[in-house]
Amino acid sequence: MRYEGAIYRPPSEANSLILQVTIGCSHNRCTFCVSFLDKKFRERSLQEINEDIEMAARTLRGVDRVFLADGNAMVMETGKLLQVLQKLYSSFPLLERVSIYATPQDLLEKSKEELEALKKAGLGIVYLGVESGNEEILAWIRKGATREEIIAAGQRARAAGLVLSVTVINGLGGREKMVAHAVDTATLLNEIDPEYLGLLTLMVCEGTPMARKVARGEFAVPGPLEILYEIEVMLRHLELSNCVFRCNHASNYLPLKGTLPQDKEKLLKLLESVRLSGDMRKLRPEFLRAL
Ligand code: SF4
Repeated sequence: MRYEGAIYRPPSEANSLILQVTIGCSHNRCTFCVSFLDKKFRERSLQEINEDIEMAARTLRGVDRVFLADGNAMVMETGKLLQVLQKLYSSFPLLERVSIYATPQDLLEKSKEELEALKKAGLGIVYLGVESGNEEILAWIRKGATREEIIAAGQRARAAGLVLSVTVINGLGGREKMVAHAVDTATLLNEIDPEYLGLLTLMVCEGTPMARKVARGEFAVPGPLEILYEIEVMLRHLELSNCVFRCNHASNYLPLKGTLPQDKEKLLKLLESVRLSGDMRKLRPEFLRAL
């Protein structure tokens, strides 16, 4: 396999073969994101992609999962994605699932029929970065989509039968908008009702517009106990029908996991007891946090 630059994938794709069908992120404007700042976006040609698949098929045995990188491979034209899926399933006889990162706009630019065709061709999980459900926060992080667009994108993916895994970033509203971020994000998620929800906690990275805002004193990053409170508020407002909930990424202060709604009260009790104890030893120390 040939890779260009640093590769990012969701934690749940740790055992997947990573296939770079696009390089970088076509949006690449979110104010907190450093992932693809050093890459100029481009799609790889089908010939290059097929060569990589053939190379992997000759050398790797037992490939059952493939993740299509980079930042938003779903931007690729549907016909080309269908050809990639067909090549993958014909090259790896044990392949069970192919997954992909998508932006809201990528999903909105595909019709429900196109998404259904991708599902039928074996696209399993779509990872969608929601980040926040608050309109103002979405605008100033330059997400490139409004709250209504994110809801429409998520609903379209679900209506097409794709499994949807969404990510939210705690702390993104700063101290000022903690509660608005928590409540608006929960109500947005309720409208989409995803199968998977992952929480990350904001880490301000050097070189980003967000870091410059923090340096100018225009953005106050919430502290660990404030983040726990924000998660509590979000959880209280969540009304999901059946969702695998994960808050155990290395950026999070307190690892949490469960299934919603059944584990909601248990998770809330844990969050509240740690927050009220104020015992920082129960939290991941700052120097161990990572993206
Ligand atoms: S869409 Fe995702 S990968 Fe692209 S800039 Fe925003 S957060 Fe980063």
